[in-house]
Amino acid sequence: MSIIPIYNCFHPFLRKKTTLINNIDDEIVKLVDDMFETMYKADGIGLAANQVGKPISLIIIDVSKADDKVKTPPIALINPIIESFSEEEIEISEGCLSIPKFYEKVLRPEEIQVKYFDLSMKEHVLTGNEMLSRVIQHEVDHLNGILFFERLTPMRRALAKSKLKAIQKGKIDANYPFINPDGKPANI
Ligand code: ZN
Repeated sequence: MSIIPIYNCFHPFLRKKTTLINNIDDEIVKLVDDMFETMYKADGIGLAANQVGKPISLIIIDVSKADDKVKTPPIALINPIIESFSEEEIEISEGCLSIPKFYEKVLRPEEIQVKYFDLSMKEHVLTGNEMLSRVIQHEVDHLNGILFFERLTPMRRALAKSKLKAIQKGKIDANYPFINPDGKPANI
């Protein structure tokens, strides 16, 4: 296994929609292993493949550290599609490994149902609440080129402007390998 650098949210890779995976080969199995190692090293609870420069529809999650009520084991979700959202919405503070040390509250549906395939291309439907639901919504947004600060209220987004500008300029504080918006490795 190896650690892969994570791309700054302002890198163009993060704005492109990813493509569906048709078959699982050794490269994808290795990518999933590497993504888990990278996510744990960075103390994250979710990671999308395009955050490590692979524009394919794959996310990994492990929310056990953030919510001890969650019994779901670490999972890789291939081609995830959120099929239903609850009407009830809740605010939860979110962070993102592509936006180091930036946390803001975001309002999103409380419960979701997500359809995805596992590494054997077997289909599953998972219902998620609270943190599990939140991480899946955040990561599926990545696959569609959407960043969580775009979901902030206009007021919160305005207040966050200078922090985001600094991140865009590559002024970041991360303890993991990081790629700047211009594609060069960050000095960390
Ligand atoms: Zn993120």
